[in-house]
Amino acid sequence: MSETLHVPEIYGSYVFGDKEMRERLPRAAYKSLRRSMVTGEELDPVVADATACAMKEWAIEQGATHYTHWFQPLTGTTAEKHDSFINPLSDGTVIMELRGKELIKGEPDASSFPSGGIRATFEARGYTVWDITSPAFIYDNGNTKTLCIPTAFCSYTGEALDKKTPLLRSMEAISKQAVRICRLFGDNQTQRVISSVGPEQEYFIVDRETYLKRKDLIFTGRTLFGAMPPKGQEMEDHYFGAIKERVSNYMKDLDVELWKLGIPAKTEHNEVAPAQHELAPIYNTTNVATDENMLVMNVMKKVALRHGLVCLLHEKPFAGVNGSGKHNNWSLGTDAGRNLLDPGKEPQHNILFLLMLAAVMKAVDEHAGLLRMSASNPGNDHRLGANEAPPAVISMFLGEQLTTVVEHIIAGNDESVPSVSNMKVGVSTLPAIHKDATDRNRTSPFAFTGNKFEFRMVPSSGCIADANTVLNTIAADALCRFADELEGAQDFDTAVRALIRREMTAHQRIIFNGNGYTDEWLAEAARRGLPNIKSMVDAIPELTKRESIELFERHGVYTAKELIARADVSYELYAKSINIEALTMIDMAGKDIIPAVVRYTTDLATSVAAVETAGVDASVQKELLTRVTVLLRQTSNALAELKLRQAKAAVLTGEAQARAYHDDVFPAMEVLRAPVDHLEMICDGTLWPMPTYGELLFNV
Ligand code: ADP
Ligand code: MG
Repeated sequence: MSETLHVPEIYGSYVFGDKEMRERLPRAAYKSLRRSMVTGEELDPVVADATACAMKEWAIEQGATHYTHWFQPLTGTTAEKHDSFINPLSDGTVIMELRGKELIKGEPDASSFPSGGIRATFEARGYTVWDITSPAFIYDNGNTKTLCIPTAFCSYTGEALDKKTPLLRSMEAISKQAVRICRLFGDNQTQRVISSVGPEQEYFIVDRETYLKRKDLIFTGRTLFGAMPPKGQEMEDHYFGAIKERVSNYMKDLDVELWKLGIPAKTEHNEVAPAQHELAPIYNTTNVATDENMLVMNVMKKVALRHGLVCLLHEKPFAGVNGSGKHNNWSLGTDAGRNLLDPGKEPQHNILFLLMLAAVMKAVDEHAGLLRMSASNPGNDHRLGANEAPPAVISMFLGEQLTTVVEHIIAGNDESVPSVSNMKVGVSTLPAIHKDATDRNRTSPFAFTGNKFEFRMVPSSGCIADANTVLNTIAADALCRFADELEGAQDFDTAVRALIRREMTAHQRIIFNGNGYTDEWLAEAARRGLPNIKSMVDAIPELTKRESIELFERHGVYTAKELIARADVSYELYAKSINIEALTMIDMAGKDIIPAVVRYTTDLATSVAAVETAGVDASVQKELLTRVTVLLRQTSNALAELKLRQAKAAVLTGEAQARAYHDDVFPAMEVLRAPVDHLEMICDGTLWPMPTYGELLFNV
C-alpha cells in the first residue's frame, strides 16, 4: 500500500514559514519582519501590508478562501472566526484581499468566551493580535482550507483573555532574568534566552462504531460506568508492543498531516494501557510548541475519524487502567543555541549549571502549589494523587549522581565531589525506564532528564501554556533574586558558590529519587512540609494567594485582576464538567441501565415460575433474581440521591458551586457507579445496553 513518501517535499508545505517569507517578500521587508520576530520590535505598517499580501497570495495558491485569527481562549481549546478574503468593489466585482491591519489585529465578538468577569457581555469587545513568532498555517478540513493566523486574545482594556498572552509575557520574563545571569558569567553576546518545550502526548484510540454506543464517551470523553474486562494491562504486553495495522495506518496518516503543518512528529509508540499510545514531536520554543500541541490534538481527532476511529484525549477514559498525560520537557537555551540546563561532562565544576539547578530547585520548592494548579483540570483529578503516575505531591528527581553532587555541595566539601564524568542521568537511562513500568523514576512528577526538566503532571487534554507560563515565571523569579544578589558581589566566585550552597540546602527537601506511589513517601513528604493538593478545586486558590499575585505582578505576567478572573473561570469550568458528567450518568442510569436490568428481572421471574411449574429446583434463578433486585434497589436509591445533589449544586455559583460538585456530587456519582458495574458482571450480556470495557479496549 505504501508508495514512496517524499517527506522533505511535504514537510511544512502548509506553513507560511521562513522559506516562503524570504521568497515572496521584498528583501527589505523580509529583513524588517525577521528583526521584529527576533527582537519583538513593533512591526512597520508597510511591512505588515507586504507580509499580509504575500501570505494571502500563498494561501490562495494552497486553495484557501478564508482566513482566521486562531487563538486559545480560557476554555483550554482553540477558537477561530472565519473571514473570507473577498472584498467587494463598487463595480460589483470582488478582489481577494488581506490587509496588514487585518493580519495584525482582529476583533472577534468575544462575549461568549469565558473571561472571569473581566469583560461583561455588553462590552463584548476583544482583540486578537498576531503572534509573529508563531507561523501562520493552512488548516485543511476536507472541503475547506483556511489560513490560520496564530494570535493572542485580549480585552479592550488590555487584560489577557487567553493562554498565549501570559505565556509570551513569561517568556520575556525568563529571558530578561536569564540574560542577567549570563552577563555575570562574562557572556556579553546573548541577547535572549529562550524557553523550549517538547510535549509527549498520550492518547487512546477506540473504534468509532463502538464509541457511538457510549453516551458517556460522547458527552464527557470518559466512561462513567464499566466493569473491568477479564484482561487489563496486567500482562504489560501493550507497552512498546507491535502496533496493530489499523492503528499504524492511522499513525502514518497522522504523521503526514502533522509534517505538512511543519510539526516534527518524531516518535510514536504504544503506551502501558491497552489502546493507549503516545506521540512526541521535536521540541520548540514554548509558544510555538504550545500552538503545535493544540494543533496536534486537533489533527489527532480529525484523522482518527477518517479511519473509523476516535481519539480520546481525556486524562482517564477508563477506570482501572492507566490514564493519559503529557510529559512537558522544558529547558532554557541562549539565542546562540547553548542549553543552560546542560550539565556538561563535569557538572560538579559547571558553576552556571549548578546555579541554574539551584534556581529550579528553589522555584519548584517555593511554588509547588502553583505548578500543581497549572496541571489541574477536572480529568486530571483521576490521575494525580489517585494511585497513578504521578502523585499529587511535587518533588524533583535528579538521579543518583547529580544528587551526590548536590549532597557534597550542601556538606561543604565540593572540592571532593566524586568525578561524575560518566554521568548517566537522563537520556541514556530513559530507555530502561520506558521498558519497566515499575521503575521508580517514572513516578516522579518533575524529573531532570539529562539537559531538561520533565514535568509529568500536565493533563493530556489540556493546553500546555499554563504549565509553561508558571515554569518560566517561577524560574525567572529565582534567577532574578540570584542576579540581584550576585550583581552586587565583591568577589563573584566566592559569592556564587556560597549562594548555590545556601539555596541547595534550603530547598533540598524537594529532591526525592524514590518511589512516589508509596504511602511511606506521602508520610515523608508531609514531614518535609511539601504540599499535597488533592484536587483541582483545592488547587485553584493557589492562583490568588498573595505570594502568587506578587510573583506574577513582579514579572509582568498576570495582573491581580487577571488571576482572580482565571480562578473564577477555573471554578466554573470544574462545576460545568462535573455537572455534565452527573447529568450523563442520570440519563444513562434512568433511561438505559435500569430498564435493561428490569427486563432481566422479568426474564428471571418468568424463568423461576416456569422451572417451578416443571417441578424442578429453581433456587439458582431465585438467588440470582434476589441479588439483581438488591443491586437494582441500590442503583435506584443512588440515582435518586445523585439527582438531588446535582439539583442543589446547579443553583450555586463560584467557588461554593465547584466545592459542591467536588464534595457532594462527585462522591454520589461513585456511589451510583458501584452497583451498576456489579450488575454488568451478573446480568445477561445480550441485554446490557452498551459496549463493555473489553469491547472498547480490545477491538481496534
Ligand atoms: P524520552 O525518552 O522521554 O522520550 P526524549 O529525549 O526523546 O526523551 O525527549 C522527549 C521530548 O523532549 C521530545 O519532545 C524532545 O524533543 C524533547 N526535548 C529534548 N531535548 C529538549 C530540550 N533541550 N528542551 C526541551 N525539550 C527537549
Ligand atoms: Mg519522557
